[in-house]
Amino acid sequence: MAYFEMAKTVVKSVIRGPATIRYPAEPAKKTPISRGHVTIDPSRCISCGMCMRKCPADAICVVREEKTWEIDRLRCHVCNCCVEVCPVHCLTMETEYTPAVTVHEGRELVHITYVKPERPPKKEESS
Ligand code: SF4
Ligand code: SF4
Repeated sequence: MAYFEMAKTVVKSVIRGPATIRYPAEPAKKTPISRGHVTIDPSRCISCGMCMRKCPADAICVVREEKTWEIDRLRCHVCNCCVEVCPVHCLTMETEYTPAVTVHEGRELVHITYVKPERPPKKEESS
């Protein structure tokens, strides 16, 4: 009986072709809600730390004084929470192919380049 089931599966697979694709040689199917790789635009990050506080995997570390944003890609489970909470929308989910990371390459440090704009001088009151 088991052999019969297995033969059925083999025949189906031969007729329909493999269920998997040869990614990245073949592009993956993407939808508007596809998730992938958290990326930051360092010129817009205001170092508020919201992404770090909301990350359930403790994968993000923001050091305001040093103007750094760091992600541990081996901890990140791609829940999208950081992207949703960022008040300035500087985090996105990159869906392009990225090579697999190893233990030593998991951490990625980004230097924040955002510069707070100066406030316009107050108008002097006329007497
Ligand atoms: S996607 Fe989720 S797990 Fe990954 S860094 Fe963002 S909040 Fe953390
Ligand atoms: S990435 Fe967004 S949420 Fe995280 S520190 Fe920067 S501005 Fe705040």
